[in-house]
Amino acid sequence: MEWQNWAGNIRFDAKRMAQPTSTEEVQELLKTSNGKVRCFGTGHSWSALIPTDDLLIDTSKLNRVLSIDREKNQATIQAGAKLKDLNLELWESGYAFSNLGSIAEQSLAGAISTATHGSGIGFQILGSMVESFKLVKADGEVLEVSRKENSELYHLSVISLGSLGIITEMTINVVPKFQLRERSGIMDFEEVCDNILDWVKEHDHIKMWWFPHTDKMMVYRYERTEEPVNDTWFRQKLMDEWVSVYFYRLMLWWGNRKPTRRRTINSKVLTPFLADVDRIERSYKVFNVPEPPIHRETEWAFDINHAPTLFREYKRMVESKGHLMNFIQEIRFVKGDDFALSPCHGRDSVYIGCYNADNRGWDELLVDFEEHIGIKYNGRPHWGKEFNVGTDYLRSVYPKWDDFLKLRSDMDANGRFMNGMLEGLFG
Ligand SMILES: Cc1cc2nc3c(=O)[nH]c(=O)nc-3n(C[C@H](O)[C@H](O)[C@H](O)COP(=O)(O)OP(=O)(O)OC[C@H]3O[C@@H](n4cnc5c(N)ncnc54)[C@H](O)[C@@H]3O)c2cc1C
Repeated sequence: MEWQNWAGNIRFDAKRMAQPTSTEEVQELLKTSNGKVRCFGTGHSWSALIPTDDLLIDTSKLNRVLSIDREKNQATIQAGAKLKDLNLELWESGYAFSNLGSIAEQSLAGAISTATHGSGIGFQILGSMVESFKLVKADGEVLEVSRKENSELYHLSVISLGSLGIITEMTINVVPKFQLRERSGIMDFEEVCDNILDWVKEHDHIKMWWFPHTDKMMVYRYERTEEPVNDTWFRQKLMDEWVSVYFYRLMLWWGNRKPTRRRTINSKVLTPFLADVDRIERSYKVFNVPEPPIHRETEWAFDINHAPTLFREYKRMVESKGHLMNFIQEIRFVKGDDFALSPCHGRDSVYIGCYNADNRGWDELLVDFEEHIGIKYNGRPHWGKEFNVGTDYLRSVYPKWDDFLKLRSDMDANGRFMNGMLEGLFG
């Protein structure tokens, strides 16, 4: 059975596939076999985390909200539930996730296991919402990991790329549902560079999209509010569907036929089209954007103090190396944490996302980004996106790298949860 990820850059033939619905069924799968095992949520990672030559576990049927504790503001949820379904179900119950990334197609455990993040310097990666979880180990036994009960294990294992076992349930800290006020508009690149270190402190959430080959950035600012929703059906249809989805895809197609057109498209067509927005909506509807067209991504986290230098240097690198880019480049901010494998470990971070919707030239762009930006500024790559750096480099930027490696080899001495990519990283 052929498996492929969302972007279509990873494909393999799965020998055996299983769709468990409970912790007990996952235990049974692991106890009745002894070969290699990988599991996936929704395949929304670009990196080769999933391929295996034996058992592949599809977690999509582990999809129920098991309970909501209204005293503690915690929800216990099966690990394969999709964030988009949880957004609706939590809202119906009066709750929301305190922060989210750009889409909600991912599974809960899939998003958390690769350190998925949103933007807002007061907010850590999504994994920080985890209070405890159940992990089925290589021998089929269940390990309960909890922030309070076994804090060291918790901080080592929340981000594990599925290398420690299969997570079946997670208890997540949620917050009473809230609205966000979005104010967004096009600004000059240099003005953003000059002010960004102040702006990140002034807004609950801020992120930017730089349009390559232009001097413009789209700046999104969101504040948490109790004011009622005021967004209109017409604006949503026009901007979030016709312009952001259909018109944008048309421009990508036009630019892909002749890549030199991309400069004109970005500067003369796309940036002038993006009108200022001032609206109030449900939080998850503002955090999430319409699902983008298929494209390639690498995204790295850096010390936030480098932000203005990084933006300018990245812009210079794109022009000097002659990359012709058609996609927005995303800039986000995340609070530092103490998860062993979090790209934000120990430092408030700025993420720079290098994206392009064209396989031609992608490998060269990735290499240039890594060499001239990523490695040069001690960045840490997003685990779910593409990167080439290996264990030596990662050890140099992750202070707890060897602690994680020891935990992994203690918990899975025979490497049941390893595959080619993970052998390269942790083997
Ligand atoms: C269009 C798009 C937009 C994105 N936006 C963002 C964004 O805004 N912010 C951001 O940080 N990232 C973003 N990502 C990256 C994405 O959030 C991560 O790659 C995420 O891991 C994908 O979730 P998934 O459920 O598809 O996991 P998968 O890709 O299926 O799996 C990811 C990893 O999690 C492991 N895993 C999955 N389920 C379990 C489980 N139950 N137990 C143990 N391990 C498990 C897998 O083995 C694998 O190692 C985006 C990706 C796409 C395609």
